[in-house]
Amino acid sequence: MFKKINSLKNLDKPDAVIFDTDNTLYEYAPANKKAEEAVERKVKALLGVNSKLYRNTYAQSKKEIKKQLGMTASSHSRLLYYQRFLEILGFKAQLMTALDLEQTFWRTFLANAPLYPGVIKLLDYLRSKNILIAIVTDLTSHIQMRKLTYFNLEETFDAFVTSEEIGADKPDYRNFELVLNKLGLTKKNNIWMVGDNPYTDIIGARSIGATTFQKINNLEKIGEGKYMPDFAFSNFDDFQNNIINFIN
Ligand SMILES: [Mg+2]
Repeated sequence: MFKKINSLKNLDKPDAVIFDTDNTLYEYAPANKKAEEAVERKVKALLGVNSKLYRNTYAQSKKEIKKQLGMTASSHSRLLYYQRFLEILGFKAQLMTALDLEQTFWRTFLANAPLYPGVIKLLDYLRSKNILIAIVTDLTSHIQMRKLTYFNLEETFDAFVTSEEIGADKPDYRNFELVLNKLGLTKKNNIWMVGDNPYTDIIGARSIGATTFQKINNLEKIGEGKYMPDFAFSNFDDFQNNIINFIN
């Protein structure tokens, strides 16, 4: 599926295409679920904490860290979640265990996060047409760099920005201004943004005047009102087949 949502928007060859990472280049939920389950097994073996207690306490620690940090990169930090998790259970400063749980989480996550079909082909195609490609993603740089390295995309992009660099998650416009800066472009250039989240990717990219494309996964909804993307698509082959005429 590839659909024009904003009837006023026409496509022209872009100077750069910016991509979100999580849930745009790969499917987030199954990887996250497998990772949380692996930690659950480890916590049971190491600390004798049962599933129900693990799930409730993890949910509480996540909530507390998110409240403490607001919309920042470290509000998604599994290390902080597991540190707080251990504190709530009364283990005090069990730093090695917190690090171990974090490693278990991300190792399992990455092993269960295949790129969506067509991503590599699309990136190669854009590069072959001399279109710059970049990443703007929430979360801390260390894990996002590790993810892209795991995908073998460590040297693929012309610019890479995480919300850790400016201290605030998308839709904060500074993420998008920073990537333009790194690319040597301005708002006057023709920029495309590809992301799954209308509340962060679509509205954020509009602050630099980008043409926006929402990647729709499964039954996710297309953004409406001020969150409406210019285009929506469900897979990268359809995306590439539909943009090819505007680029060649
Ligand atoms: Mg995303």
